[in-house]
Amino acid sequence: MADVLTELPGVGPSTADKLIEAGYLDFMKIATATIGELTDIEGISEKAAAKMIMAARDLCDLGFKSGVELLKQRQSVWRLSTGSTELDTVLAGGIESQSVTEFAGMFGSGKTQIMHQSCVNLQMREKIFADLEGVVEEELEAPKAVYIDTEGTFRPERVVQMAEGAGIDGQTVLDNTFVARAYNSDMQMLFAEKIEDLIKGGNNIKLVIIDSLTSTFRNEFTGRGKLAERQQKLGRHMATLNKLADLYNCIVLVTNQVAAKPDAYFGVAEQAIGGHVVGHAATFRFFLRKSKGDKRVAKLYDSPHLPDSEAVFRITEKGIQD
Ligand code: ADP
Ligand code: MG
Repeated sequence: MADVLTELPGVGPSTADKLIEAGYLDFMKIATATIGELTDIEGISEKAAAKMIMAARDLCDLGFKSGVELLKQRQSVWRLSTGSTELDTVLAGGIESQSVTEFAGMFGSGKTQIMHQSCVNLQMREKIFADLEGVVEEELEAPKAVYIDTEGTFRPERVVQMAEGAGIDGQTVLDNTFVARAYNSDMQMLFAEKIEDLIKGGNNIKLVIIDSLTSTFRNEFTGRGKLAERQQKLGRHMATLNKLADLYNCIVLVTNQVAAKPDAYFGVAEQAIGGHVVGHAATFRFFLRKSKGDKRVAKLYDSPHLPDSEAVFRITEKGIQD
């Protein structure tokens, strides 16, 4: 049932219509909006926006959480295998839900392969690790993935090949993977915002992939003068992704390009695009690099509670392996 927005203070039928038109269909969306976002809507003052947000937060029961509640939320974290036990070990057991995991690296380092493999592994119960007392069991039943492809590199036939390599039906994986091709940053952001509608429409979305996170932004906002605007938009996009991870117990995976560090004196240093905006929003950050043959090295860095460490894996015809 839709929330009745006119229950909010200062929201009459015409403001409700404007909110709905702008995509604010329910209390949760308003509760997690910023004042700036709401005042972008014609006729909504800062004061009115603040009141609406506070009231919506009360209605959604958002606010302080006790340590016990947070522990309970943490207990519902589930994990997905990358396909490589070594890489899973670096992640203390696999890719975590309720967080954003970033894979950065040069062309051909294996970012897109890991994204494809994750769609396949999501369909294999034995690759999903969860304490089923913490997670409601239905939550992990018939999970679906959303793949936002900004570089045109999603390949259904590669998904099928990996599925067959894992001994499962490729068609099932494709049936449970929604793919959207984003040609620019606005489309990318819009698709990410639409995921919530998919979930509310009854799709059990458990994996969200953005491949790649920064390429559209990098192409569109060139030059110093555009940097602030780019970072602001990117920040909003990251907030959308974090919200999905938190509210719906999803895994969010993003890939990222790298650039040479401008002030590196020693050797070649690389850094992921997006600066602090991406750095703070991603819980787990990896650098991927090529090694001999089909070998790749993944280096975890900047994690709040895991040590920096490296894993070696392989990309074969069957997919990501040890
Ligand atoms: P990026 O980091 O640019 O996204 P990719 O994930 O697309 O890189 O990795 C591309 C690499 O993956 C190729 O260079 C190749 O080594 C490997 N690869 C891609 N498809 C296959 C396949 N079908 N069999 C074996 N290796 C593959
Ligand atoms: Mg790629």
